[in-house]
Amino acid sequence: MFSAIRVKENYPGAKVVVFEKTNSLLSKLKISGGGRCNVTNGAKTIPELLKAYPRGGKKLKKLFHQFNNHHMMKWLDDRGVAWVLQEDGCIFPKSQNSQTVIDCFLEEAYRLHIKIEKGSAVEALKQKGDQIELGFQNTETSSQVFDKVIVTTGGSPQRRGLEWLENLGHKIENPVPSLFTFNMPHEKITKLMGIVVENTLVNIQGTKLKSEGPLLITHWGMSAPAILVLSSFGARLLSEKDYHFKVQVNWVHEPNNEIVRQVLEELVQQHPKKKLGNYRPYLLPERLWYYMLEKCELSPEKIWSELSKKAMNKIINTLTNDIYEVKGKTTFRDEFVTCGGVSLESIDMNTMQSKVVKNLYFAGEVCDIDAITGGYNFQAAWSTAYIAGQLK
Ligand SMILES: Cc1cc2nc3c(=O)[nH]c(=O)nc-3n(C[C@H](O)[C@H](O)[C@H](O)COP(=O)(O)OP(=O)(O)OC[C@H]3O[C@@H](n4cnc5c(N)ncnc54)[C@H](O)[C@@H]3O)c2cc1C
Repeated sequence: MFSAIRVKENYPGAKVVVFEKTNSLLSKLKISGGGRCNVTNGAKTIPELLKAYPRGGKKLKKLFHQFNNHHMMKWLDDRGVAWVLQEDGCIFPKSQNSQTVIDCFLEEAYRLHIKIEKGSAVEALKQKGDQIELGFQNTETSSQVFDKVIVTTGGSPQRRGLEWLENLGHKIENPVPSLFTFNMPHEKITKLMGIVVENTLVNIQGTKLKSEGPLLITHWGMSAPAILVLSSFGARLLSEKDYHFKVQVNWVHEPNNEIVRQVLEELVQQHPKKKLGNYRPYLLPERLWYYMLEKCELSPEKIWSELSKKAMNKIINTLTNDIYEVKGKTTFRDEFVTCGGVSLESIDMNTMQSKVVKNLYFAGEVCDIDAITGGYNFQAAWSTAYIAGQLK
């Protein structure tokens, strides 16, 4: 829809048709962001924006110079869609309702006389000279020929869904899910479900994957940004590991164990008579601290100043290097995105035109571009659609 609007703005005389295979338009946008649509992100600079894209990042740079999150904010302003920037950088429509964005797109499409054909699944694409013929799944819709075609079919969780583009000669990066939470079926920590630790460091053992930020303990394992970022940056590697690996959690966001030791020693000096259970280092949530003491086989009744060196080391190790076995994954609030799709090697990233089929363009999640949560996935869709819509 966004690229169709761009095409019509650039070429007002063109006949523009949107073919949608289902009977409802923009259904993913409707349910996005829990029905509120996290439409973009407030990142201040392009380098900051690029950090959110494990795949596509470098190649998005040029596109973002032409159309980035700030252009999208202005695009919404110009069309009367008020938005709000949250503290975490996410941008939502002020109405807190994705329908506002949908209504804006539909009004634009109506104003620009864009034709919308629902229930029309494109299943074949043939080059006919410089033109492109589209064939449809339902036999009632006869094939149609266009001067230019933009494919925006979204992420496909299975390679089969991309075969029609692969058969044309496009390189396909195997699709695997991104943005998921970690299952820990054999770990007792799940009993602490609901606890959030605001500032953790997390890494995946034996890899370079690391992240930081809030971590939520769930009844199946771990979630929240620290975990989702790892799932996004590690989407392909973790799929190769069949989602079986170990995570190391540093609950106190302090990579230097000696600093943690100093903090604890100062604590012992200041409160020599306090019991372990009565003083939580780094103000950790109480239930988590008790769980850690149990893990270290230490009684909450024990006095801090009576701790042996070995016991102190155990506490420091649990605070900074707590290891959990992950077996399996769970989709985060159904907000999965696909890592993989049409390889950017098959796309001219200055125009979004296919390098294989003349006058064929790509935009959105069908391309091998995806990001962490925070409005970045939509922003990649808007930016690629904006460039594709120039039909250069
Ligand atoms: C539950 C959920 C919540 C999300 N929330 C957010 C969020 O708040 N912020 C954010 O940035 N990202 C979010 N995302 C990711 C974001 O929705 C996607 O990255 C984005 O929708 C991609 O846009 P797209 O146009 O490329 O694909 P889609 O939105 O998937 O649209 C593709 C359309 O093409 C149609 N189609 C597919 N094949 C054919 C065919 N052969 N012929 C005709 N039509 C076809 C589909 O029916 C669909 O309507 C969320 C994802 C999910 C699943």
